[in-house]
Amino acid sequence: MKITFYGTRGSISVPDKNFSEFGGNTACLLLKFENGRIAILDAGTGLRKLGNDLLAQSIEQYDNIFIGLSHTHWDHIQGFPFFKPAYDTRRHFTIAMYGRGRGSFNLASAFETQMQQDYFPVALEKMGATVMFWQPETPSFTAASGIQVTATEHNHPGRAYGYRITEGATTLVYCSDVEYVDGIDPNVVALARDADLLIHDAQYTPEELLQKKGWGHSSWEQAVEVAELAGVKRLALFHHDPDHDDTFLLRLEQECRQRFPNSFFAREGMEVAI
Ligand SMILES: [Zn+2]
Ligand SMILES: [Zn+2]
Repeated sequence: MKITFYGTRGSISVPDKNFSEFGGNTACLLLKFENGRIAILDAGTGLRKLGNDLLAQSIEQYDNIFIGLSHTHWDHIQGFPFFKPAYDTRRHFTIAMYGRGRGSFNLASAFETQMQQDYFPVALEKMGATVMFWQPETPSFTAASGIQVTATEHNHPGRAYGYRITEGATTLVYCSDVEYVDGIDPNVVALARDADLLIHDAQYTPEELLQKKGWGHSSWEQAVEVAELAGVKRLALFHHDPDHDDTFLLRLEQECRQRFPNSFFAREGMEVAI
C-alpha cells in the first residue's frame, strides 16, 4: 500500500512561504493498493491537486473511487468543489462516512450545502459525475474491491471517525481530529493495534493542549502515547496547526523522534510505502 499526503494542515489552509515544507493544504490522502485500486481519505483542500494529478496520470483505469471521510468539518470537505474528476460525467465516486448513531445526520446534505449558490457557483448535482453517499451502519465493511475497513467513533465536536484499512497483511490506521478527555481512548488504541503506519492528529504541543480543551484535537505527545500503547511500527503526525510554521514543526519533529524514533511529521507531497 502506498500513501501520498496531499494535505497535512488542520483547520484552514495556509499558503504562506514559511509553511512550504510541511504544506498548507488541509487533510487529504491518496491510497494506492496492491490490488490496483485507489481510495481517498478526506476531501480537504489537498483534493484539488490530487484530482489534477489523477487526470494527468491514468484515472481511466479507476472506476467508482472510494472517498472515506473522518467527518464533515470544512477542512475535510472543502476540496471537493475543486476536484476536477467529479466534473466528468463518465466517472463514479462513493463518498463514505461511518454513520452509526448519527441519527438524522445526512452526509449528502453536508456536501450539497457547501455548494449552495450562496457559497459556490456550481451545485453538487450539476458537477457531472455520479456521486453516491454511503453511511455504513456496521463498523466493518469493505471498499475498493475487498479492502477491509474497520471504523470507530472518537471524541471531537460533532463526532469524528477513525479508520483501520487492511490489505492482506498490511494495515494503515487513520485517526485525525480526536481529543482525549480522560486519558487515551482505549478504542483508538484497539483500532491502531500493531498497525504498519498510524496517521494521528497532532495539532498541538502538550502546553497548547492545556489552553485548548474542547477544541477537539490531540498533542503530538498523545499521538506518541497511542503509538506506544498500540505497538504501531511507524507514526505520522498529522493535522498541523495553522499557526505552526516549518521552523516550529521541525523542532517538534526532533522532540517527537526522541520519544518515538520511527515517527515523522507528515509533509505535503510525501509518499510512504507500507
Ligand atoms: Zn480537521
Ligand atoms: Zn474537525
